[in-house]
Amino acid sequence: MSNQLEIKNLTVNVEGTEILKDLSLTLPRGEVHALMGPNGTGKSTLAKVLAGHPDYEVTAGEVILDGENIMEMEVDERARAGLFMAFQYPSEIPGVSIANFLRAAKQARLEEGEDIDATQFYKTLYAKMDMLQIDRKFTARAVNEGFSGGEKKRNEILQMAILEPKYALMDETDSGLDIDALRIVSEGVNRLRGPDLGVLMITHYQRILNYIQPDRVHVMWGGRIVTSGTKELAHKLESEGYDWIKEEFGTPAAKA
Ligand code: ADP
Ligand code: MG
Repeated sequence: MSNQLEIKNLTVNVEGTEILKDLSLTLPRGEVHALMGPNGTGKSTLAKVLAGHPDYEVTAGEVILDGENIMEMEVDERARAGLFMAFQYPSEIPGVSIANFLRAAKQARLEEGEDIDATQFYKTLYAKMDMLQIDRKFTARAVNEGFSGGEKKRNEILQMAILEPKYALMDETDSGLDIDALRIVSEGVNRLRGPDLGVLMITHYQRILNYIQPDRVHVMWGGRIVTSGTKELAHKLESEGYDWIKEEFGTPAAKA
């Protein structure tokens, strides 16, 4: 069984318009890939389709996680299979502490009848918080309630550390990260990256890649990956923008 997330020839319609067109991308576990591209090119659509969002009609293709097709799976089954979506929990949950939320999330990953060991859970939680340099007081706060952008990101990274996904997808495009939040995400990803985790960082801007060295960079345009390369490709996009992509790869058929 291969340890990789394979997106194969994915074609997706939203309200009758084809947004993703025959898109293929392979993310091996242990690598950090960046997915970049101009606004409106379908990056967030890809993230939502992978998460199992019901509004998107997959007309062709498949997504294989370590040899298993996840396209027929429900959202929670995908999570149990090892997929983590960073933008999945931006909502506030008043009255529910981070500690209890994380415990419930962890419990939900267990088989039926299996119960989380509270002592062990807190031991792991505090160890991960120490690793991520998060203050212990943080876990007593209600999930996202009155959080700054940076605190939301810290919460997201902590969830990722606790749930130990095989693949994490982070769609940062629309979150307007300030420099503090950017640093928290970058440091978190850098601490968590390793042979057991694959990360797909979706980003419009190159700047987060000053903090995270991607193993590979993919450029998306018009609903497909038009070119892939090393981190140098991200630097080229920063200095030259996306115009050369548009010239080289034409008007996106997605808009036709
Ligand atoms: P990106 O994240 O690269 O900026 P998106 O995936 O958000 O791009 O959007 C790609 C295209 O799909 C855009 O033209 C957008 O208007 C369209 N789109 C995305 N989601 C929906 C939706 N729920 N309903 C209608 N159109 C959508
Ligand atoms: Mg987006």
